[in-house]
Amino acid sequence: MKEKAPDAATVLAEVTSIEKDIVSIRRQLHANPELSNNEIETSKFVADYLRGLGIEVREKVGGNGVVGLLEGSEPGNVVALRADMDALPVTEEVDLPFKSKKSGIMHACGHDTHAAMLLGAAKILSRHRADFPGSVKFLFQPAEEDGGRGGAKPMIEDGALENPKVDYVFGLHISNPYPSGTFALREGPLMAAPDAFKITITGRGGHGSEPEDTIDPIFVSYQVYGALQGISSRMVKQTEPFVISVCSVHSGTRNNIIPDVAVMEGTIRTLNEKTRSKAKKLVAQLAESTCKSLGATCKVEFKEDAYPVTVNDPATTRRVIEVLKTIKGTRTIETDVILGGEDFSRFLQLVPGTYYFLGTINPKKGCVYPNHSSKFKVDEDVLKLGSTSLVMLALEFTGNKTSHDKE
Ligand SMILES: [Zn+2]
Ligand SMILES: [Zn+2]
Repeated sequence: MKEKAPDAATVLAEVTSIEKDIVSIRRQLHANPELSNNEIETSKFVADYLRGLGIEVREKVGGNGVVGLLEGSEPGNVVALRADMDALPVTEEVDLPFKSKKSGIMHACGHDTHAAMLLGAAKILSRHRADFPGSVKFLFQPAEEDGGRGGAKPMIEDGALENPKVDYVFGLHISNPYPSGTFALREGPLMAAPDAFKITITGRGGHGSEPEDTIDPIFVSYQVYGALQGISSRMVKQTEPFVISVCSVHSGTRNNIIPDVAVMEGTIRTLNEKTRSKAKKLVAQLAESTCKSLGATCKVEFKEDAYPVTVNDPATTRRVIEVLKTIKGTRTIETDVILGGEDFSRFLQLVPGTYYFLGTINPKKGCVYPNHSSKFKVDEDVLKLGSTSLVMLALEFTGNKTSHDKE
């Protein structure tokens, strides 16, 4: 960090002075959520706001992505800060004055807060452009919830990490499992590779009174379901974080018709490539052999381009922890691995960096429901802490020295 760069207490005070703006941006985005790959108004809002701060803006980066570039006072590292912008197909059940105006769409994962916190950080950093070297890139990403191609990959393909080339990347997620004001992170693997699968079982339908003349795909799907559960209990190392869940089974139309087809969909979560490919192979093998033994046929498909494992660079993350610890009113803890997936992983595959969580559990304010719940509610008092952390990471990593070197 440069001598002139403000310390954590100063940054927190400056962010607190614009806290109202950050909250109001968040509320505006919350009331007007947009689904993955449809973030038209949100990205326009973000681009206009950045331009208003004198930040150079590129729009339509890999779809609805927005990249802002803020150059510092002299050459130095390029630090990218990322916020996702998309909402979920959930009907909001929280009674707020800024409740979603769009029925069936809700910012239930808190990406509205991510965009607001990053815009707040951009505002503070734009005032300090003379006080840090290098540049800060603001990556506003669409389609994180998409789960397949996502939004990070198209942005990368469209040059988001080039010109200038990014040296470090950081991303922040507001997260329910942790208390308000707690930063949670870990070195190395943090989140899983989420592989979605679909098994289509084709039997031979007929009358419900004569199952002996049919190949009942519902019965077959029940056997396949049981076989798949054996993967986690019998075929994967028990010390390894692993999940397989069948989350949807569809078949049939009424009580006395045995259908022709049953479709099962589910997800596998793994933290390393070896287990991942083993589990995918087992799903296909077990489904196919079970179906075959019962006279049915089956087709097993995996969603292409699944997100990779999210891996935090150890050295960078240790430095991030030191920075976070300087922010008054917060606590930094090491979290367990999480078997959710995140396409921030795509940035981390190419650039060292850290993904970290900011807790928002606050029972006094009713902020107790998990992300993706229709009752998910954010403790807005933590937004200033998130913005402060993003500013501090930008200041720290644009310079070549660590805060320890300074002393
Ligand atoms: Zn989510
Ligand atoms: Zn999310």
